Amino acid sequence: MAHTTEQSDQPACCEPFDAEWAHLETLALHAGTGPDPATGALLTPIYQTTTFVQEAVGVHKGFTYSRAGNPTVAALERRLAALEGGAFATCYATGLAATTALCLALLAAGDRVVVSQAVYGGTVRLLQQVLGRFGVEAVFIDTADQGLLAAELQRAPVRLVFIETPANPTLRLTDIAATAQLAHRAGAWLVVDNTLLTPALQRPLELGADVVLHSTTKFIEGHNATVGGALITTQRELHERFEFTRTATGTIQAPFTAWLTLQGVKTLPMRMARHSENALRVARFLADHPRVVRLLYPWLDSFPQHELARRQQRAGGALIAFEVEGGVEAGTRLMNAVRLCALAENLGAAETIITHPASMTHWSVPPAQRAAAGITDGLVRLSVGLEDPEDIIADLDQALGK
Ligand SMILES: *Cc1c(COP(=O)(O)O)cnc(C)c1O
Repeated sequence: MAHTTEQSDQPACCEPFDAEWAHLETLALHAGTGPDPATGALLTPIYQTTTFVQEAVGVHKGFTYSRAGNPTVAALERRLAALEGGAFATCYATGLAATTALCLALLAAGDRVVVSQAVYGGTVRLLQQVLGRFGVEAVFIDTADQGLLAAELQRAPVRLVFIETPANPTLRLTDIAATAQLAHRAGAWLVVDNTLLTPALQRPLELGADVVLHSTTKFIEGHNATVGGALITTQRELHERFEFTRTATGTIQAPFTAWLTLQGVKTLPMRMARHSENALRVARFLADHPRVVRLLYPWLDSFPQHELARRQQRAGGALIAFEVEGGVEAGTRLMNAVRLCALAENLGAAETIITHPASMTHWSVPPAQRAAAGITDGLVRLSVGLEDPEDIIADLDQALGK
């Protein structure tokens, strides 16, 4: 059961849909919601209210104050829990608010966290520049290297292993099932940031992860309209810690954000399938282009961890990284020449977005460190959108010719 609140007084016709046997496409539309008990409204209303009137002291319908919980947010939580194959979800104001709540719920001064070397930049900043001041030590290693991970877990006690797979922007993969085994043997929890693939393409909880983290800002909401985050787990004890921490620190999501995300997530399985189809078409075009000297897309045979991608993912996802000959100047020229692709620092929306890590997202990282992580000066990141792939290819073709 994915219920996070009890509403036992609902008539049977209005109980949230929660069939465990349903397929992903059906769950994306129906899980966790049903017609509004008061009016029959098909869509869950936006419960834009701070507080909830109690019938008598302590007698209420499961909601008391919107910092602790809200019916619209709870509906999204039931839906996301069902999609990830979890039992519980909590939603947050942003993806980083979810990461903050995760760390505050599970860590204390003196704890060590092992983190994938290539993770979202905001995750690094939070761990190093904020939680570091509170005595949390974050160790960044290449978690694709299981030998290195095993050694790090043996060196000293580790509370938490935090991985992002595929990692941004090099798409390096970490084996989730193997990492879960190593982490659990060392007495650590495994958290997977599943933002880039979503439950439509990758199911970390089924592979042994304890918690899945999302920036719902990206593919889950999918329309560049909101910022939001979520934590999903099958473990009640962890969920209760997340709920407590969210109420105590005030990081909950706004009802309107939850409502927009409930609409966006309805098409998630179809969108992720189309993102992947389009990205594969674009990747094959780039593979044949004479000016492309390096190409990373997990669904291509040439990808160094292609076999792991096939085992762990349902499809390749939307992100492609590639390098054009001529380094940073050539990369910049390409960026400036695109017309359809949006030159921006985001990913995971319906629109194709092109980013130049060396001059945009990773400019502040010293060149040697960038090179060690495989982020070369000519590297271009593409978040392939839902346009007709021929149009995306035509745009890249004309830009590569300049
Ligand atoms: C964007 C992003 C985040 C942070 O999410 P916000 O909603 O921007 O706070 C975390 N992880 C990944 C992989 C992301 O892409």
